[in-house]
Amino acid sequence: MNYSTSSADRPCRGGAAGAAGAGGGAAGEARKDGHGSGEDGGGALLPPGLLEWYRNYYRRFLDRLYITRGAEDFPVAGRAESILPDLPVYRIEDRDEIPAEHRNARTLLLTLPKGRTVDRCPGSRGHLCCNYLTIDQYMGCPLGCSYCIMKGYLNFEPLVAYVDPSPSIEAVLDLARNNPDRPLRIGTGEVGDSLFLDPLLGLAEPVVRALSGLSNVSFELKTKTDHVGHLLDIPQKGGAVLAFSLNPQFLIDREEGYAVDLERRLDAARRAVEAGYRLAFHFDPIIAEPGWQEGYDGVVRRLFELPADRVAWISLGTFRYIPALKKRMDDRPYLYSEFVPCRDGKYRYPQKMRIEIYRFLTERLAPWLAGGRASTRFPSPAGGEQSAGGQSAGGEQSAGGQSAGGQSAGGQAASGQAASGRAAGDMPLAGQPEQNGELPIYFCMESPAVWKAVFGRLPGREGYLRDIFQHARGGGRLSRRSPDAGQGA
Ligand code: SF4
Repeated sequence: MNYSTSSADRPCRGGAAGAAGAGGGAAGEARKDGHGSGEDGGGALLPPGLLEWYRNYYRRFLDRLYITRGAEDFPVAGRAESILPDLPVYRIEDRDEIPAEHRNARTLLLTLPKGRTVDRCPGSRGHLCCNYLTIDQYMGCPLGCSYCIMKGYLNFEPLVAYVDPSPSIEAVLDLARNNPDRPLRIGTGEVGDSLFLDPLLGLAEPVVRALSGLSNVSFELKTKTDHVGHLLDIPQKGGAVLAFSLNPQFLIDREEGYAVDLERRLDAARRAVEAGYRLAFHFDPIIAEPGWQEGYDGVVRRLFELPADRVAWISLGTFRYIPALKKRMDDRPYLYSEFVPCRDGKYRYPQKMRIEIYRFLTERLAPWLAGGRASTRFPSPAGGEQSAGGQSAGGEQSAGGQSAGGQSAGGQAASGQAASGRAAGDMPLAGQPEQNGELPIYFCMESPAVWKAVFGRLPGREGYLRDIFQHARGGGRLSRRSPDAGQGA
């Protein structure tokens, strides 16, 4: 059992926030200018106001800290204990020692990574997988989205942070060496929010720094928070991408628990791009309730304020579920839509509806994205390619003309470009769409038929999508942890 305890005998204080999923906005209290040191090994170097914020914020979510043997030697453990000195700490040999009553998302476990530290999304039978690579940093999430796919996959409830990033970094360096001709996309947001805990633990910064010299690696941090402040001052971002999951505000309010509102995500994206990061956006899960067109159109139009040429990719994925997830979900309005079973055992909207949704979004995104890229071509439903100045995928809009919102997407993107420019030290990255004239939009776990209906072809024939949809050599065995975490973070 415990080989020692520090404040373990103190009674746990009840957190102000209830279980994840309740309404309210602890995350909404995040300081927009907040940043931590990432290297201080404790809270001593944080400005007092920021330290106060960290304490208030994380104590709303956390009741106790478990640290396995060996993990305490890493700065992350000292940092967490120093920032949250009143949090009861239990030192244990192994995670199995956590008692049942503490196996929940109000427990944070700091531990060492076991086994492989880089995995590959295994894909989904009959559906096209983008061959995303994942590394272990954070597992579990207390933000409480009603649709979170991890409810159906993760059986270990505490939040887990792997305190030693070196094995992951080494594994990625190895992969990059084995695949010098391929762009690799690697992220931490498949089984938890990449940035929810990161201001407290600072695990992202060493990875961003270590990978910043690799021209073929895009390291993505995906979030529904606005916790980017602590990462803005890293001098060399390399291929780092800060990514935000997006939904209309009425769905955020109703279905995304403690996640911050759309405005704050977009503001964080703006700060990130101004600091030199590339951006990614994930419309996943897209929920098609009555009025969805208006809701998603409104979100897309907000993106026009950001520089399109700094967008690394945008993924689209409609809501889907496995039976195990549905059993654990509350009764939600969007579950009353029509769903059909697919070859991979998941339930999705009928194909016709998915095609309509994807066309709707790509038609609206294409002019903005094309406007930020010189000589950009994008696929048409007919299978040909059209110039950015021509008709969009839906044949309705001109990239240089009026956008869905009646604004010139190209014009807005251009002004955004001028505002952000290229970051100092930014390098040309292999396989980026601006180099081969292709739009960086893809579908998460969709069928070949849907790809063809929307884009006129499958990914993988040429260009950017071929590059990101092909396997990395030495990418490792398939991960079983998260067969489809597209709507998981
Ligand atoms: S969907 Fe993402 S942000 Fe929401 S609870 Fe799951 S991991 Fe957290």
